[in-house]
Amino acid sequence: MLRYDFHSHTNYSDGILSPEELVELAEEKQLDLLAISDHDSVSGISLAKAHKQKQQLKVNIVDSIELSAQSDFGEIHIVGLNIDIKHPGLLKLLDIQQKKRWQRAEIFDEKLKNLGIEGVMDDLKARCKDVVTRSHIASALLSLGHVSNFDQAFKKYIGKKGRVKVSTSWISMQDAISAIHDAGGVAILAHPTRYPMSNRRLGYLIEEFKIAEGDAMEVSYPSLNPDKRNWLELHREKNELLASGGSDFHYPNLKWSDLGRFPKIDSKLPHVLDLIKNKL
Ligand code: AMP
Ligand code: MN
Ligand code: MN
Ligand code: MN
Repeated sequence: MLRYDFHSHTNYSDGILSPEELVELAEEKQLDLLAISDHDSVSGISLAKAHKQKQQLKVNIVDSIELSAQSDFGEIHIVGLNIDIKHPGLLKLLDIQQKKRWQRAEIFDEKLKNLGIEGVMDDLKARCKDVVTRSHIASALLSLGHVSNFDQAFKKYIGKKGRVKVSTSWISMQDAISAIHDAGGVAILAHPTRYPMSNRRLGYLIEEFKIAEGDAMEVSYPSLNPDKRNWLELHREKNELLASGGSDFHYPNLKWSDLGRFPKIDSKLPHVLDLIKNKL
């Protein structure tokens, strides 16, 4: 069985490691396949591949993306696995998403200024590469001394229940899935249980994802308890979606997450690997 991780981030979105450091870590962990799936950006992938080539590493990099999208049930994340990172339609869509992200950051900055917090936008401009995420805003709030740790920034200010809320009109779930397909990729519903909704609504979301021609869903990732895994597996099977899994790796040394670390998926289940292994 191939060792893989189909969900990870570099510092081209909100990961901490550079693309070069991430592939080095994947090699160290003896992964056969690593999907680099930054939020709304593919810029880190070519650097990772150049490094792999130069250092003659064995790990295979699967060109991927994590798109933020709007469903009828709220914001969701869709991993596009094994995409053509030069596809013009995809690049156009990423440009739109990245602009929306910077517009959202401007509004966050305005609202934070109203609470007496100055300097966030300058910090973000120095901190970010092509995309800005709420993780960057959390880091800005931490370095400006307004919170004492990263999680507190979400709790107090920018999380679901924080003081500052900014809604964004991400691309639709349908457009995200179509863009992934047009770029030759597999559309995977990311970490389904992390969305703030009831199981009943999550069940409907998974059905809608299938109707919109989504291909797969993550059924294994860190911090999923066995009950939730079983629930996801039932809904995956009912909707005839393929299984995928990944660590959603952002930083090394997190207790609950490490690159390549998530519960093993039963090898008998229909898996995204079956779909992509001949195309790599
Ligand atoms: P964005 O896509 O800009 O809304 O940023 C979302 C990212 O913020 C996620 O991918 C996570 O990495 C991070 N994030 C979201 N909520 C939290 C939280 N409560 N604590 C820590 N990180 C979070
Ligand atoms: Mn993230
Ligand atoms: Mn996500
Ligand atoms: Mn992610």
